[in-house]
Amino acid sequence: MEFLFFIATLGLILGLKFMGDAAKAKQGNIIAAISVAVALVGVIIKNYDPTRAGTINIILVVGLLSVATVVGRVLAQRVAMTKMPQLVSVLNGMGGLAAVVIALIEGIAHPIGDDMRATGGLLLLSSVFGGVAFTGSMVAHSKLEGKKLPKATQVHKVMAYALLGAMVLLFAAYMLAPAPFMPFTSLLILVTVLALAYGGLFTLPIGGADMPVLICFLVALHGLVAILAGLFFQDTVMLIGGVLVGAIGLLLTVKMSEAMNRSLGSVLAGKFVSAKGGRSEAEQEIRSISVVETASLLAFSNKVAVIPGYGMAVAQAQRECFALQEKLRENNVELHYIIHPVAGRMPGHMNVLLAEANIPYASVLEMSEVNNTMEHYDTVLVIGANDVVNPAAENDPESSIYGMPIIRAYKAKQVVVMKRSMGKGYSGAVNTLFDRQNCRILFGDAKSSLEEIINELKHI
Ligand code: NDP
Repeated sequence: MEFLFFIATLGLILGLKFMGDAAKAKQGNIIAAISVAVALVGVIIKNYDPTRAGTINIILVVGLLSVATVVGRVLAQRVAMTKMPQLVSVLNGMGGLAAVVIALIEGIAHPIGDDMRATGGLLLLSSVFGGVAFTGSMVAHSKLEGKKLPKATQVHKVMAYALLGAMVLLFAAYMLAPAPFMPFTSLLILVTVLALAYGGLFTLPIGGADMPVLICFLVALHGLVAILAGLFFQDTVMLIGGVLVGAIGLLLTVKMSEAMNRSLGSVLAGKFVSAKGGRSEAEQEIRSISVVETASLLAFSNKVAVIPGYGMAVAQAQRECFALQEKLRENNVELHYIIHPVAGRMPGHMNVLLAEANIPYASVLEMSEVNNTMEHYDTVLVIGANDVVNPAAENDPESSIYGMPIIRAYKAKQVVVMKRSMGKGYSGAVNTLFDRQNCRILFGDAKSSLEEIINELKHI
């Protein structure tokens, strides 16, 4: 059996390694899924109890796993790429909820004596982290869906700190007090309620451009919950799975914080400057550009950069991007894609879309690789990106995204922004790129506009 677990662990690590490379990501996903299946088979065989109750348990577990597999498969096929972050939030939340339910069942069904404080401590921690992951993910989900939530105030923050303090005190008292100060089950239920309330309150003030950091942090929390469950059940595979998810979540959190030029502490404290913005849209003088003009601008450029954003995902315009690249290549125009780490609505969103359209990896560049040489591009085509190219992040201390590193599209010779209207980006900040002298807007759905540009290029 240990051999099965060893294989599953190796598979999980290999799968993750492959996922780090866009060319092998699909294979990585399959390897990781098979590894989880192997681990599940191992757990079922290891815990097989030949009594009637044991057999019923196995039937229940296998039945539920089968239903979950079908539901997962249908969800993965049906959920649009633009809704993937919401799905990830729900899955994160469900992991947290499972941890809470398991902790409550274990803590209530089996008496936890005073001589079992390490076990009790693990259950309390599972409840706390699971509860925070659950309600935190649900609030994050609502924010990503654009649902109306109560506006976070100073009162919410004070309440969140009070709940956090209460949980820390209760946990410390349980672990250190010479004798129990309340029955364990009551303590477990109390801590669970506090954690559920805290999760919602701590997520409420985090928003705008800080959402990517929050999502990664919740993934890390989910990993931590699995580690605690692995320790509780002394299950090596679960422990290793938890360590892997937790480590990835933590690394992503750090990377995303760096990408936003923010400390994790300030993100989690929900401190962000107000979204006033130094300029109003009314003051902006917008110039538009036609499809014909855009096509000739592109055709007579030597170097073109495409900056994709959330709007490209909405329009599903990745294949048209590739077609444009091919068309321009025939005219000896070099095209690069420049990716901002938080473009779209989930980490790696743009990379996934571009890989889906078989765009060559060599032409996909990170923001940091080209930001100091943007003036070398004759034309930059901003396809459904907004916040990630907003110069207000560099020069408007009043803007809600001030301090976030951006792709310096404004430095290119010509900039064409493809968007449907004067709709704002996720952060809601006014974009000061739009009325720069070298910037014009091609209004329309990104996919249709690209198709029209490609058609027009055929006549040039
Ligand atoms: P933005 O959300 O800033 O802007 C998207 C733009 O796309 C809008 O201006 C919109 O304008 C345009 N758009 C929408 N649909 C279409 C369409 N069909 N055709 C053409 N344009 C369209 O996107 P960015 O990628 O620039 O920035 C990502 C933002 O999301 C950042 O603020 C980031 O912090 C946040 N975020 C990122 C996460 C991540 O993990 N990557 C997670 C959560 C949030 P219009 O309506 O006028 O068309």
